[in-house]
Amino acid sequence: MDCIFCKIIKKEIPAEVVFEDKAIIAFKDIKPIASVHIVIIPKKHINSVVNLKKEDEVLMGKLIMTAKKIADDLKVSEKGYKLLIRVGRGGGQEVDHIHLHLLAC
Ligand code: 5GP
Ligand code: ZN
Repeated sequence: MDCIFCKIIKKEIPAEVVFEDKAIIAFKDIKPIASVHIVIIPKKHINSVVNLKKEDEVLMGKLIMTAKKIADDLKVSEKGYKLLIRVGRGGGQEVDHIHLHLLAC
């Protein structure tokens, strides 16, 4: 499958990884739009929120809990941050592998 994020998961292309476990990987966005801009993805390839199934409920909870942990680690929790999921072309989604943006100034 020609998915750039799956290639990052498989270490076929480099990324600045800030967190990784069995189910999730998080890395610095290549074109940051804030001083902290992390992309958090499940290792399972899911195109978009539109394609989520009931079985993905726990995984998506884990995605948000990982964002919380990374925000704590990067010490932006007190100041505050944004979590963003773009959905489909109309929502501005460019990479068709579901992901959460963590954005902080
Ligand atoms: P979307 O617009 O789909 O919500 O966000 C995709 C994000 O992935 C963009 O912010 C873009 O800069 C980032 N991105 C795309 N390709 C790469 C890549 O090869 N490496 C990294 N680190 N980020 C990427
Ligand atoms: Zn993928």
